[in-house]
Amino acid sequence: MDALEVRHDALTGRTAIVATGREARPHQFHRADAAGIDGVVDCPFEPGHEAMTPPEITRTGNGAPGEPGWRVRVFPNLYPITDAHEVVVISPHHHRSFAQLTDAEAVEVFAVLRDRVRALLTSGHATAVAILNHKREAGASLPHPHAQVIATRFVPSEIEASIRRVRDAGTDLVARDASAPAGLVVDTGCARAWCPWASTSPFLVRVADVARGPRFDEADSESIASVAVTTRAALASLRTALDDPPYNLVVHSAPPVTPGPFHWYVELTPRLGVIAGFEMATGLFVNTVDPEHATRALRAAWP
Ligand SMILES: [Zn+2]
Repeated sequence: MDALEVRHDALTGRTAIVATGREARPHQFHRADAAGIDGVVDCPFEPGHEAMTPPEITRTGNGAPGEPGWRVRVFPNLYPITDAHEVVVISPHHHRSFAQLTDAEAVEVFAVLRDRVRALLTSGHATAVAILNHKREAGASLPHPHAQVIATRFVPSEIEASIRRVRDAGTDLVARDASAPAGLVVDTGCARAWCPWASTSPFLVRVADVARGPRFDEADSESIASVAVTTRAALASLRTALDDPPYNLVVHSAPPVTPGPFHWYVELTPRLGVIAGFEMATGLFVNTVDPEHATRALRAAWP
């Protein structure tokens, strides 16, 4: 018999209604490949099309600014939503998503994101977040795989609330969330990937190195490497289990003022449904896939 269970996520402050006991299978979420979208000819993120973007901020790889040869390329967003909004093209390849990068490429992307977050905080912003939207359904406006770093001069309310939760909890919320054995997908000895007990949406995955520090901008090369490689593997696992779903990748980091134990972590949210009226009315999130089921499916699909 199906059961509905209300679970509170102490880390995010969200409440999930988890439909436990259902045999919701991943194939229910398989979606048609959006193969029709190609757009290489017009793609402003292609090597050789550098003049189509604002002047670049930084790159890895070879070549002069504004010319091909790069591996990762950063420039201001042409349509910024804040005064500091940067695009990070994660690879010269139009059809190569984060899940398909090599370990070394994944680590390089994370190191660039860390460096840009650090640079924007150093230049006086109150917060700077690193995100990656995969596919249009997850908010990507262009198909060429890219991340974004967005900084604000004030502390947004969600981040302010998370600072309050960390302070009031008096315990390490990230480590506690990562330690529920039923949700553990993988533990590499450095990084862990897990499906949170109170997942507010199907196949939610978090990745962290819980032996390391609170701030992404201060992360050392070892923790960048372990989290980046495990995040890439988690995305490859989602890609296999759910047939390349749209998703949002968000790097959560403690801002400079956070009082209390914390670890920066990555949250991967496959976009398999929509936020509907009930969620908007109540702030309760209905999750039709038991996180334990998601854990088993991701373990089976782990690369
Ligand atoms: Zn492209």
